[in-house]
Amino acid sequence: MKYLILGNGPAGVVAAETLRRTDRAGEIVMVGSEGLPPYSRMAIPYYLEGNIGEPGMYLRKSSDHFAALGITERAGKAVRLDTDARTVHYADGSSETYDRLLIATGSRPFQPPIPGMNRPQVQNCWTMTDARAIAALTKPGSRVLQLGAGFIGCIIMEALAARGVDLTIVEMGDRMVPRMMTEKAGNMIKRWVEKKGIRVRTSAGVKSIDDGTGDAPLAVTLTTGEVLPCDVVIVAAGVIPNLDFLPPSIITGRGIRVDDGMRTSVEGVFAAGDVAEGRDFFTSEPLVSAIQPNAADQARVAAVNMAGGNALLPGVLPINVLATLGLISTSFGQWWGMEGGDNVEHCDDRNSHYISLQFKDDVLVGATSVGITQHVGCLRGLIQSRTKLGHWKDVLMHSPTRFMEAYLGVHQNARADMISA
Ligand SMILES: Cc1cc2nc3c(=O)[nH]c(=O)nc-3n(C[C@H](O)[C@H](O)[C@H](O)COP(=O)(O)OP(=O)(O)OC[C@H]3O[C@@H](n4cnc5c(N)ncnc54)[C@H](O)[C@@H]3O)c2cc1C
Repeated sequence: MKYLILGNGPAGVVAAETLRRTDRAGEIVMVGSEGLPPYSRMAIPYYLEGNIGEPGMYLRKSSDHFAALGITERAGKAVRLDTDARTVHYADGSSETYDRLLIATGSRPFQPPIPGMNRPQVQNCWTMTDARAIAALTKPGSRVLQLGAGFIGCIIMEALAARGVDLTIVEMGDRMVPRMMTEKAGNMIKRWVEKKGIRVRTSAGVKSIDDGTGDAPLAVTLTTGEVLPCDVVIVAAGVIPNLDFLPPSIITGRGIRVDDGMRTSVEGVFAAGDVAEGRDFFTSEPLVSAIQPNAADQARVAAVNMAGGNALLPGVLPINVLATLGLISTSFGQWWGMEGGDNVEHCDDRNSHYISLQFKDDVLVGATSVGITQHVGCLRGLIQSRTKLGHWKDVLMHSPTRFMEAYLGVHQNARADMISA
């Protein structure tokens, strides 16, 4: 049996190792397109903050880790997949056959169509190569404009702030992290960040990037008409799954459609990680959840099934935890609510504390929190277990911060019922 894994990010690595544990004899080939050892994009902020060097970003520390497991690493960029011939064609003209294929090619940064985007001072923050370029371009005091304040954008913002740059964030949404946070929560984060000295422009985009005047190499014009002198522009405007090399026989939406066993629409071909589109835990709607824990979970399931097992993931539950300059925020599940559901919101602006809970009947289906660091795992636990809250729902509708008591209450009741049975 020959297993071919396209991609050597977290999904590719976890799949390769799981395959080896599951099938001791099969041939395993893992392919990366960046010419680098497998590394974690999640580590880029730590590198930019100067906390780690490049080897600190590597997913596995010893250089013979994969060879020792009998996993062959090769460099190549897949440009065509022939599913009839079970063959992958690479950019250098070579090709490779497989019995089982995992597509774990991740995603790449979206480039908004803005005049001036191709200037050398305009930089993505997605790969190790990008990280090296940002480290070279930004010094304490550099005037940096960051385009995008989504989840990844906020993580990058934190690293740039730690580098001591003079930072302006421009976000098209009406608040920070608009696809992860309610309006009140996103605006609370905005005010917090502004207090720490970062300029934030929401409901604004970049119209053009032109030659600057005086000592500024760039002049960035916003859709609001504001013009900002800049040294560097960092682009964090979202990502697109790497699907270009796929044949039409593989069904795609925003990513590669997979079932709960990570099988694609083509026999013998699986997908996992940022490139895969699973189904939402509650609604079963197609969902790409581009975070690393999800990549690892999906990869494990895919690998077990590639080796003939029958593992399943019961849908993808959005789980986001973010630190912005010391303020912790989270959102879980259907944080924006469900049709016909109930919700409660509690906002303490003075202390930067916020919580919002979303219910369907007496089940907690989503939650958002800001500034609450204790026991937020209970919120996730209640959502993930689809626990029926009974009278605890009324308690939470009245006092949403009592979620830990609710968690203990429903679980103690369940245990008492089990003992008496
Ligand atoms: C700055 C930054 C911070 C982040 N912070 C967090 C965080 O705090 N928490 C979190 O959960 N997530 C975070 N993420 C997101 C996380 O890194 C991704 O969700 C994760 O990397 C997805 O893993 P993956 O293996 O699916 O894809 P990737 O890590 O993107 O790996 C894909 C691999 O496929 C290869 N590849 C691409 N195209 C081809 C091709 N055609 N042929 C062969 N190989 C190919 C690439 O070389 C790459 O090695 C962050 C991302 C960034 C950029």
